[in-house]
Amino acid sequence: MGLDFSYNIALAQELGSIRCGGIPMAIGVQAVMATPALTRFGSDELKKQFLVPTIAGDFVACLGISEAGAGSDVANIKTTAVRKGDEYVINGGKMWTTSGCQADWMCLLANTSEGPRHQNKSLICLPMNLPGIHVAKKIDKLGMRSSDTAQIFFEDVRVPSKNLIGEEGKGFTYQMLQFQEERLWGAATVLTSLETIIQETIDYTRQRKVFDQSVLHNQAVHFRLAELATEVELLRALLYRTVALYVEGNDVTKFASMTKLKAGRLAREVTDSCLQFWGGMGFTSEVLVSRFYRDLRLVSIGGGTDEIMLSIICKYMETLPSKQQ
Ligand SMILES: Cc1cc2nc3c(=O)[nH]c(=O)nc-3n(C[C@H](O)[C@H](O)[C@H](O)COP(=O)(O)OP(=O)(O)OC[C@H]3O[C@@H](n4cnc5c(N)ncnc54)[C@H](O)[C@@H]3O)c2cc1C
Repeated sequence: MGLDFSYNIALAQELGSIRCGGIPMAIGVQAVMATPALTRFGSDELKKQFLVPTIAGDFVACLGISEAGAGSDVANIKTTAVRKGDEYVINGGKMWTTSGCQADWMCLLANTSEGPRHQNKSLICLPMNLPGIHVAKKIDKLGMRSSDTAQIFFEDVRVPSKNLIGEEGKGFTYQMLQFQEERLWGAATVLTSLETIIQETIDYTRQRKVFDQSVLHNQAVHFRLAELATEVELLRALLYRTVALYVEGNDVTKFASMTKLKAGRLAREVTDSCLQFWGGMGFTSEVLVSRFYRDLRLVSIGGGTDEIMLSIICKYMETLPSKQQ
């Protein structure tokens, strides 16, 4: 058993082209956010119980990393899973959990000991129907409004210790690996969305007549669309290079961070520029460009913000100031 990542990228691109949706958040959580660690490090029994029905679409998965007090600083999470006999007892809470209102299980990151903060965490498959799990609210958002985002609390939730993914204490490391797939998936879905929105803008501006000529006939418009299309191809080249390195088994943390950073920034640039060419129509809820303008804003925030991507890239470039300086 195992998820073929190149297949996931292709699937993500295909799904990204679904015109009504843009980024299919729940599919992304299911395929590349909540499941890669389970696929790589989970026991056969766990895979049978959680992965197989998730791939089949019978289970909805969610990923519980971020908390109200810890988003960018993942190592600072406070949720605990204390071992008692053959169970973990979980207390704390998660924030921003995509699909959290309807999920059957959560890939949960929790502190399982009091050791150093990069070595005291574990990933656990948590069924979401256990006593003590409380979905407190569905968060009202600027975009991605067809995807539910939940705040969830845990009070003395008891889960079998065999639900641990891989080794205890390796959760932070597993999650950092899992993030790479999330970041590449994010860039892959953006790519198709951006192509769609550029093409829609060409179609609209070609037929929209202002001062007796197509809006598209203005050089400022068709040159700008050509620039944006070129940028999208550069993003594609970086994404394909990174995916190829990943499939070969390389550590792609630096390149995946660059790809995610570029995808988030380009998404903002393309949707903002294209929306402008639609005039007043671009400001309505009737056209795809306004939806993409709101939805794709998330790419610079979710799965690690632009600033965190820059920090990671700087770490690999060895340009971060050391603590002594
Ligand atoms: C719609 C949505 C869906 C999400 N889905 C999930 C999910 O399914 N599961 C999950 O676990 N999480 C999820 N998240 C959470 C997401 O990953 C976090 O929002 C993100 O990591 C940022 O954390 P934060 O919101 O706590 O921001 P903060 O960490 O509070 O950051 C605030 C600002 O400070 C900046 N900052 C932080 N450190 C530095 C630095 N060193 N230098 C410069 N600037 C810095 C950040 O870049 C940001 O601009 C989701 C978020 C959203 C909005």
